[in-house]
Amino acid sequence: MANPCPKKRLPSTPRRIRPPFVWTAKADALLGTTTDAAIAARLQILPESVAMRRRKLGIAPFNTAVVWVAWTKKMDALLGTAPDPVIAAQLRIPAPSVGTRRRKLGIAQVGNAVVKWTAEMDALLGTASDGTIASQLGCIPETVGERRHKLRIARFSTAALTWTKQREALLGTDTDPAIAKKLDLSPGQVRLRRQSLGIPTAKPHPEALKKIIARSGALPVPSQSRATTSTGRQFLIDQPHVQRARTEFADTEDMALTAYLERELAEVYSKSLHPPSCPYCRSRRTILQQKPHGCHPLPRFACRTCKQNFNRVAGTPLFRLRAAKLPLFIRLLSQQIPYNVAARRLGVSIDAIQNWAKKFRIWLLQLDPTGKWEKKVRLGIKARPHIRCPRCGVDGEKYLNGYMPNGERRLCCPACGTAFGISDAERLAQEAVRLEVFHDPGKAALDTETSDS
Ligand SMILES: [Zn+2]
Ligand SMILES: [Zn+2]
Repeated sequence: MANPCPKKRLPSTPRRIRPPFVWTAKADALLGTTTDAAIAARLQILPESVAMRRRKLGIAPFNTAVVWVAWTKKMDALLGTAPDPVIAAQLRIPAPSVGTRRRKLGIAQVGNAVVKWTAEMDALLGTASDGTIASQLGCIPETVGERRHKLRIARFSTAALTWTKQREALLGTDTDPAIAKKLDLSPGQVRLRRQSLGIPTAKPHPEALKKIIARSGALPVPSQSRATTSTGRQFLIDQPHVQRARTEFADTEDMALTAYLERELAEVYSKSLHPPSCPYCRSRRTILQQKPHGCHPLPRFACRTCKQNFNRVAGTPLFRLRAAKLPLFIRLLSQQIPYNVAARRLGVSIDAIQNWAKKFRIWLLQLDPTGKWEKKVRLGIKARPHIRCPRCGVDGEKYLNGYMPNGERRLCCPACGTAFGISDAERLAQEAVRLEVFHDPGKAALDTETSDS
């Protein structure tokens, strides 16, 4: 290929960039016929590239579960007498192998509907694990589970069998979920045992929450702002986590971060001909090698110490990012919105947003190792509220569960199932809601980056 830019010297850097692989119809035809790794080896590209292309074209992965089995007449005779997974379990071979063989011999599949539940069979439910009963009945465990759910029979558990007097004394003293938590059982097991002993349930809500709140009305309201912190990162508690119909995301842009990044971006993409120090060896012995022109909008420099050529973007994590969308993207970095919303706003893929967010967070840590600026990034990071439950006293994570009539977020206690408005919970618990990050898609990359350097 001819050098498209005659003024440009061929790079002296040893870094060789492989031209992007072009998917031909012939290459596409290979997808799904064998494993991605085998195709990748044949095309001399990465297995990830093959998997990505395969998913893009909606082609199912090559089914490695269909292993070769030496089928005997005796084994063949079993096919179609029970659902494939049951036979597979009996023969100790993968279920897809059974299905493939059955279809090859033209034997019809036995569905789950064959089980006709008799009173005797129903009596078995819950006395052993679904899998054990399923193998006795010759059906798949899901069928047993479905029936068990329908009859509201608790899942078999060894713990359920050891009801001591001490444990039984607890029944009815609190809500079933609360007791289940104490005894390490499922609420269904507790409820079943309580019902079988004829113990009435402790009323889950003995007193209307409104009354409790009204009574404690005189309590001082803890000082709190809607933007609570978690390890220094600020979040708005009212912001939704996911995009639903009619979801409105408040504009949470941190103008200080945007201005900071705009300044840094302008410097990196500057056309100034003053040579910066070498990003590879930190040497100051650098000279201007090439003024910006035509297809190279950035000036290039050369290092006299290590003989590398570079521009100002080289050596930053922004190297080879699409520069055109970056000024818009930095305005999204501090927004408390999920990646998919950011992707839609910029008209790029979610993968691009994820990659950019990662690169920018690494860059922010490089620019300011104290992490002051990186902590202002909220894009894609999700936090859940923590507070002591005013009803059951369990401290820790609460779920966000819709909105109160007054428009504030409603919290739900996973331990006792009670729902509170945020301000009510804070007033009753006499503490402010803390937010803790529970989802940070960029954290792993950031951690490896900071531990490397
Ligand atoms: Zn150098
Ligand atoms: Zn609670």
